[in-house]
Amino acid sequence: MTRTPLVAGNWKMNGRRGLAGEIAAALTGSLSENVEVALCPPYPYLVALGDALPAGVGLGAQDVCDHQDGAFTGEVSAEMLADLGCRYVIVGHSERREYYGESDDLVASKFLRAREAGLVPILCVGETLRQREAGDTEQVVVQQMMTVVEAAGAGAFENAVLAYEPVWAIGTGLTASPEEAQAVHALLRGTLAKSAPEVAAKMRLLYGGSVKADNAAPLFAQPDIDGGLIGGASLKADEFIAICRAAG
Ligand code: PEP
Repeated sequence: MTRTPLVAGNWKMNGRRGLAGEIAAALTGSLSENVEVALCPPYPYLVALGDALPAGVGLGAQDVCDHQDGAFTGEVSAEMLADLGCRYVIVGHSERREYYGESDDLVASKFLRAREAGLVPILCVGETLRQREAGDTEQVVVQQMMTVVEAAGAGAFENAVLAYEPVWAIGTGLTASPEEAQAVHALLRGTLAKSAPEVAAKMRLLYGGSVKADNAAPLFAQPDIDGGLIGGASLKADEFIAICRAAG
């Protein structure tokens, strides 16, 4: 099964208006057709970036409300994101789980809302350092994925993306080795395959956690790593382009 690699940039709460134009200009003419690329800026910059991005580069958001439009002050609905031209939305990023107390159940609701609005959810799963040291990595990441399966069936991962992001690797300069990451990716795909083999075979599984231009290629060469979710390095156009090139 060949899966088109996807490299998605997560700007987190960084950047100003000018960054959208700067990065969009740098991406224009610099990307291979063999890799899909997406950028997820903060909400206020979605429109500016969406207007500036070259054709074919996807726009995404970093979070979404678990409710439809209505009385939810401060929130942004999946329909609004679709209306602004988003194709992707990240759900369950470890910073949302850690700083805003997002549970597996809430993340699953967001995932399903995104799908209902026609967006492609990028579900983040990953273990903390403490969970890793306790030998709980497999149980944690499988549980995070299975909460969605239990809520909506394995078919919910049709046209969805899963991102394995070990929490201890995010923004730390530490990365899982390609072999460690591959083992977790194979476990996740294999677990989903038990109930939906075709969906599992097609699902893109991204690795995230301090991916840079100089460590991306061996990670992306693993059979179950279909690209990356890139934080800090997506704010630097040259670095991000080099990572995209490493994927295809
Ligand atoms: C992320 O924010 O999803 C991420 C992987 O960050 P970084 O690449 O900076 O570790």
